[in-house]
Formats: sequence, structure tokens, C-alpha cells
Amino acid sequence: MSVPRGTAAPSVVAVTESSPAQLSGLLPGDELLFLNGRSPRDVIEYSLLVDEPELDLVVRRRGIDDPFTVLVSKEPGEPLGVEVSSAVFDRVQTCDNHCEFCFIHQLPKGMRRSLSLKDDDYRLSFLYGNFTTLTRFTEMDLERVLTERLSPLFVSIHATDPEVRAGLLRNRRGATSLRWLSALLDGGIEVHGQVVVCPDRNDGAILDDTLAGVLDRYPGLATVACVPLGVSRFSVEAAMRPHTRPEAAAVCDTVDWWQQTFVEAIGRRMVFAADEYYLMAGRPFPARATYEGFPQHENGLGMARAFEAAFGGDEDAALGVRPGFFAWVDGAPASGYRAQRADPSTPSGDGGAPIAVLTGEYGERVLAPLVASLDRDDIRLIAVKNEYFGGNIGVSGLMTGTDLARALEHEPAGHRYLLPDACLSEGRFLDDLSVTDLPRPVEIVPTDGLSLRRALEGRTSAPSGGCTTASPASLRVPVTIGGAR
Ligand code: SF4
Repeated sequence: MSVPRGTAAPSVVAVTESSPAQLSGLLPGDELLFLNGRSPRDVIEYSLLVDEPELDLVVRRRGIDDPFTVLVSKEPGEPLGVEVSSAVFDRVQTCDNHCEFCFIHQLPKGMRRSLSLKDDDYRLSFLYGNFTTLTRFTEMDLERVLTERLSPLFVSIHATDPEVRAGLLRNRRGATSLRWLSALLDGGIEVHGQVVVCPDRNDGAILDDTLAGVLDRYPGLATVACVPLGVSRFSVEAAMRPHTRPEAAAVCDTVDWWQQTFVEAIGRRMVFAADEYYLMAGRPFPARATYEGFPQHENGLGMARAFEAAFGGDEDAALGVRPGFFAWVDGAPASGYRAQRADPSTPSGDGGAPIAVLTGEYGERVLAPLVASLDRDDIRLIAVKNEYFGGNIGVSGLMTGTDLARALEHEPAGHRYLLPDACLSEGRFLDDLSVTDLPRPVEIVPTDGLSLRRALEGRTSAPSGGCTTASPASLRVPVTIGGAR
């Protein structure tokens, strides 16, 4: 007996103590070939199947020749107590676009291969908040999304003019695939949009035209993020360059104008500019209230304001970010990317040692006034220059072990070094180094203002499962890069 071709069986990586799974004898390493006769395609289908009170599992276990059956009886809706190894058991839908601004194409050689996988899969959009262009979306996909209410989803718009969009994606289907966006909105799916703004490509008049198109054709969108392209030193696209300061200011002005227009037309702002634009333009961030609840916080919209509010003690603003920029490629907890974050409440660290907060160059500009407000001379910031990617990459979420090791090499021993968790995925940096490769022990702090404040006051510790005495992290003000854009 085997699962359908092209589908891998869910593999158990952890079993919760005293859970129905443990009481039924399931073990880490077991493969779940069939659940009530079905072989799930992804963790979404898996979650629905294991919700059943009576489960008939066909299990394959290393060292035992034939698969065997495990019967599980539990309360309706009671968790099975199993964490599986990945989010998608059949093939991830890969991207067939060739965007000039794709960051996947700007990665240095030698990075682990999984980071090079360009996904364009609505399931990863639902599970992780990855953006999909819908160029490979199908009628069957739409039916499933509507039937199973896979909401919210995240869609890359870039331009609403069909020809301009096809040109940006370098894919003819880019001209027509936004028809699926209309269908999703008509079906009541919450959709958040994104425009990666590239100078001389889709800024200026084209950005105006795009936002007019959104108001005209997609007023049901929940939000639209305007985010800048990231350009690493490995980019081979001659036309791709970072925004100049005046160009960044122009994007801020455009978004501001359209916010007022959207408020008049539909009663909400809808469109927001990424924090990076205000940093690049040298302007103050908009007021917290204008972010309307930070609906695209994960995408760098209002992250600085939320961080500031949380640092001031507002627990509701401690939104954090998903750890690790490419977290999804390393596997998903069964509950998806919105899984509860680790409890940061356990005290740790030597309360008397001087403290250094490791952060990216953009993060430093956000953190500096916050740290200064504490009026403590035992706290300093270490802005880690991103030489690994180079270019305009300055966000904390893309800090690598290589750059952190260089920054820490000449730092004194015995200090506390705080690292934001946003640059780690499963304990590893993008360059595959881990915190234990760093020359100084670091404390990993959840990337939100409240956790940093507590850490600085000696009341915070690394998340459970994190590393308090190994090596590195920061405030992530995400740059917009490829991979599911
Ligand atoms: S940016 Fe996204 S949509 Fe464009 S090529 Fe890269 S992965 Fe594909």
C-alpha cells in the first residue's frame, strides 16, 4: 500500500505528551500513509482529517516491514497531538514568472537549495502569508479556496494594467491572472495585495494608475502594500536599482494622496507604504492610528510604530514577526504560520552585564530613539552591515551568520548580546550558519518591542527551544524580495 504518485506521506516529527497520538502509540518518524482512507495533499487537508473523533491511521514505521493500522479515538475537535514535517505533501506549485526584481535570482551561490525554490502556491499564501501572482491558479484551486474558505490570501498585484503587469512578471499570463483576484473577492475571500515598486518600472504615473485600478476593479481588497524592491550585490538585472531619496519621498506622497482618496470612496485607507520608504525618505513614520490595526504588519507596514508602542508597554502592539525570512521552506508547524509564539516571559541573563542589541542598519534607526529614551549607559546598539547580500539590504530579518560573526568578533566577552528571532529559521541563518557558530553567546529575543523591553530590563529570555547561550538577531523591517512575491 502506498500513497498516490507525487505525494509524500506526512511524517511525524513530534508527538505531544499524553495526547491521543501518544496514547495510541504513534512515534516520531512514523509516516501517516492514510487517514480514514485518504492521503492528504497538504497540512490544510490533514488538519481537517485529524479533526475527526475516530481515526483509522495506516502507519509505516522504520524497522517494520509492512504498514500497520492505528486506531485513535478522541473527542471531536481534540488535537491529535502530532506535528508533521512539512506544509505540502504533494508538489509545491512553483512560479513560472521571471520578475526582474526577484530576490531569489539575487542570492549568492552556495546557499541551500531549498531557498531557491520559487513558489507561487495559494496554499503557502494561506498558511504562511506568502504572496502569489495567481498565474498558475486554476478553476479547481478556486473551487477549493471557496469551499474550504482558505482566507486570507495574499496576492502580488504590481500593476493593474495588463500589459504592464505581464512585463513586470515577464509572463504573458500576468496580463490575465488578476481575473482570479476578482473571483476570490466575489467569493468573499479576504485578500491582501502587494505592489513591489521598482524605479522607472511601476512607480510614478504607473503607481497612480495601479492604485486607481485597485479602487475601480478591486475595492474589496483588504489592504494593498507598496513595498520597495531589494537589490543585492548579486543582481544581474541592469535596470533594477534602489530608490533614490526623492523617489522614496514620492512613493510616500502617492500613498498619502491615495489614502485620502480611498477614505472618501470606501471609508478606509486600504493602501500603505512600507516602513522602509519613510526611512529612505528621511521622514517620520505615519501615526499609529493610520495603520488601521496593522493588517500587513508582517510585510513591514507599520512595524516601527507597532514596535515603538509595544516597547512603551502596549501588549496589544507586540505583534512580532514570523521567525526566519524563508521559514516556510524549513517546514511548518501543523497549526501554520500563525502558530502561537514562544512564551518570552521567563527571566534570563546576567542582569548586571552591559547589553548590546544586534540589529540591521534600518533597525538601528528605529531602535536608537527607543533605547535612548531609557537613559541607560549600559545599553548600546550594534548595527550589522549586510555585506553578505550587499546592495540596499539593511533589514534585520536578512542578517546572516557571516555578518553577525564579523560584527561580534571584536566585541568584548561577558556582555549580553541580544538577537531578534526574525533572522532565524529553525535555528539557522540564511547562510546556514547557526547561533553556535557565532564568536559570542547571544540571547534570542522575539522580534517585538515588548520582548526587547523586557530583555533589556532583565525580565525576558529566549523563547523556549531557542538558544540563550549560543550565538544571535533584531528588529525586522522587511525588505521586499522575491520568493512568493
Ligand atoms: S518575485 Fe516572486 S513571482 Fe516573481 S519570479 Fe520571483 S518568485 Fe516568481
